[in-house]
Amino acid sequence: MKYSKIILKPKKEESLLRFHPWIFSGAIQAVEGNPSEGDVVDVYGANGRFLATGHYQAGSIAIRALSFEQTDIDNAFWLRRLQAACALRLSLGLAGAENSNAYRLVHGEGDALPGLIIDIYAHTAVMQAHSAGMHYARHQIAEALTQTLGDALRHIYYKSETTLPFKANLDSENGYLYGGEAEDIAMENGLEFYVDWQKGQKTGFFVDQRDNRVLLEHYARNRSVLNMFCYTGGFSVYAMRGGARLVHSVDSSAKAIYLTKKNVELNFPSDARHEAYAEDAFRYLEKTECNYNLIILDPPAFAKHKNVLRNALQGYRKLNAIAFEKIQPGGVLFTFSCSQVVSKEHFRLAVFSAAAQSGRSVRILHQLTQPADHPVNIYHPEGEYLKGLVLYVE
Ligand code: SAH
Repeated sequence: MKYSKIILKPKKEESLLRFHPWIFSGAIQAVEGNPSEGDVVDVYGANGRFLATGHYQAGSIAIRALSFEQTDIDNAFWLRRLQAACALRLSLGLAGAENSNAYRLVHGEGDALPGLIIDIYAHTAVMQAHSAGMHYARHQIAEALTQTLGDALRHIYYKSETTLPFKANLDSENGYLYGGEAEDIAMENGLEFYVDWQKGQKTGFFVDQRDNRVLLEHYARNRSVLNMFCYTGGFSVYAMRGGARLVHSVDSSAKAIYLTKKNVELNFPSDARHEAYAEDAFRYLEKTECNYNLIILDPPAFAKHKNVLRNALQGYRKLNAIAFEKIQPGGVLFTFSCSQVVSKEHFRLAVFSAAAQSGRSVRILHQLTQPADHPVNIYHPEGEYLKGLVLYVE
């Protein structure tokens, strides 16, 4: 297939030669042909050397590279990529596991598919496009997905209404590309969760905290647990199984509290150890008189762009400072940041400032990150977004 040609300015090919998948608009010298947003284009260096094939887009990231070898972006291409993604999850013991069926099958750049996310919940794939190119390819991708997963896949829900670039005017509607009206219970390490991919946040469930929830379970025995920013109650359910004395779940969204209660009830019916509150995190922490000795802080991304980084760091500092003030001696704090623009060092510094402010003795027990089904392409360090610290507070 002949694609439109993008020619880069001299010396702008370096990051592509190191397999970084983004090309910024400022690096482009000339455009041959008249590519529309979302079209596949071939990228060449100023010296005429072929560099990459990718999706074209208006905006600061002008091209997202799909391949560094010359290839047609056709059914066979999508099938190759999805089969590779699936092979990795099989080797991780996630695809086809007996006691888990919720995992990320495609993690954008981490699976050489920039702009595409696919999460699997039992027999449903929830697909999310972040670029016009992936949006236009959605039916081809869905076809390749059914071929890759076979009988294990019965439904594909496409959910890109809020993730596609606003300016592209794609009028994407959420809905099923395949199957429909699916069962909505997924399993994670033997625990069951209702997943609401239609109305819930992101693809409906935060699979990225799976390994960290397992660690939390090991700390929960006989502890009084506060799960702050609980969303669907993942950490709460693991804490219950870990033998917590009591578990309080807090989220500002009433819908999240409804889901948390439903999920706790599903796994631990009529268990009086659990209570849930729809309230603002800061307000709840400030006024609570409960003696918690295991606290989880997993807030939404405080910074979505670099220009709000300072405010975000202040937010993390303030939030952690209240937790340090409130947690009982001998307490354990699981604290996270999922902001991609906040580096590990930034986050640690914010938590360090909060600890210093409280004047308490604090030690780092674990440094946490995203699980292996959210792999980071080593040439695209921006893919690393989840950071966590487990702290022992004397
Ligand atoms: N820990 C969760 C994911 C958290 S997502 C899990 O493992 O699944 C972040 C959550 O924070 C969302 O559910 C959102 O409703 C909630 N939230 C956002 N701002 C808040 C605030 N100020 N106080 C309490 N909850 C808040």
